[in-house]
Amino acid sequence: MIDHNGGGETAARWARVRGRLRTECGETVYRSWLRSLTLVRCDGASVVLSVPSRFVRDRVTTQYGDRLRALWAIEDAAIRSVEVTVAQGAAAEAPADRALAAATAGDGDSAEHHEPVELAAPAVFRSNDPTDALSAPLDPRFTFANFVVGKPNELAFAAARRVADSETVPFNPLFLYGGVGLGKTHLMHAIAWNLREKHPQRRMLYMSAEKFMYQFIRALRFKDTVAFKDLFRSVDVLMIDDVQFISGKDSTQEEFFHTFNALVDRNRQVIISADKSPNDLDGLEERLRSRLGWGLVADIHPTTYELRLGILQSKAERLEVSIPSKVLEFLAHKITSNVRELEGALNRIVAHTTLVGRPITIESTQEGLHDLLKSHDRRVTIEEIQRKVASHFNLRITDMHSARRSRSIARPRQIAMYLAKQLTHRSLPEIGRKFGGRDHTTVMHAVKKVDELRAADRHFDEDVDMLRRMLES
Ligand code: ADP
Ligand code: MG
Repeated sequence: MIDHNGGGETAARWARVRGRLRTECGETVYRSWLRSLTLVRCDGASVVLSVPSRFVRDRVTTQYGDRLRALWAIEDAAIRSVEVTVAQGAAAEAPADRALAAATAGDGDSAEHHEPVELAAPAVFRSNDPTDALSAPLDPRFTFANFVVGKPNELAFAAARRVADSETVPFNPLFLYGGVGLGKTHLMHAIAWNLREKHPQRRMLYMSAEKFMYQFIRALRFKDTVAFKDLFRSVDVLMIDDVQFISGKDSTQEEFFHTFNALVDRNRQVIISADKSPNDLDGLEERLRSRLGWGLVADIHPTTYELRLGILQSKAERLEVSIPSKVLEFLAHKITSNVRELEGALNRIVAHTTLVGRPITIESTQEGLHDLLKSHDRRVTIEEIQRKVASHFNLRITDMHSARRSRSIARPRQIAMYLAKQLTHRSLPEIGRKFGGRDHTTVMHAVKKVDELRAADRHFDEDVDMLRRMLES
């Protein structure tokens, strides 16, 4: 080890960096990805670490590179870069692995999937099972523990848990569907992590439908379809992500259909995800479409405000940064598209504030997310809200200002006040004035009432949420 500071001191620093990483990332992630990190040298401005394989290196660099740099900088402000390299002579290649790698090699990125050392990487790829080499890597963050459950995803979550915990095959296939960025891939990886831990002997294959297609076309080209079929049909659990990409590709669909049937007939668990329900998937053969709907079909709905807030709170907790709840609420209101964007926004404000070293406030958030918020921040006016709510409940706009108190009018009026509070920056007295000169306590009461009703009545909640979404889009 080359060390400008004397080996002892650097070793102590490295030990502290590792310790912090371990606490930050949790034991599972640490054991899977970070334990094998070895300090090669530290020479003033840069640190070089090594890992046993390219696969681990890529993962560590992309996922934990920033944290590594930040943690080293805490130890020594002069450190500017942290490089992760592959250790020389990391592992030997077994002939069987090489043969399999050749048979199943795919596109550019699959080089990492069959790289020999990857099979020897600890914890993640424990076995020499060929399906492990073919399976796409699992994201260490996508676990059940990290998944926040709310109304929009409770069914999908419960179904995924059941499949992951069950000793038998509870429903076949499990079909998860929903819009982009709502957690389908996360749940599939969570099932996979769970099975790996509890039933390491079960052969599991997880890949995107695109990859499946690619592998199949490749097998056709190399006249190797027998090996392809054998491999796919030998698994205990098959997970195919984003199956909508198979649509329209006839021969692949055909092969997928047969693989699917063969596995289901043998009572092997199949888990599928798509952006639409089996019925709504275009370009899918009828028999495949109907077969896909035979098991349990669970949809993930667009997020609600409560779920978004929950996800932000859980993420902030894990990042170990203190973010005022006002800021989290602000983000949950503003970023309504999907969870991926929500996470992106949070990461950005955390990075932003860490860099400039000021506490996170609504103002700094607005500043840091300027471009992102602009697209979400269509200013809604109170008049617009009144118009939308009135027409939704078949009332006249004047009913929003009137003194009438029958529930059929008062309730929609309360909803409109509530939405005015949520969607505009107007104060309670201002809102009251716009609703026929009511007092601010009336508005406050309306907000409280609607909150209570939303918590108690699912239909009411969905109604209000739909109105909000219409106004925001
Ligand atoms: P999809 O596959 O449906 O497009 P992903 O599973 O890739 O979406 O999810 C996008 C991102 O949002 C991921 O980083 C994932 O961890 C996160 N995410 C989605 N839903 C949740 C949830 N309920 N709790 C925590 N994180 C979530
Ligand atoms: Mg996905």
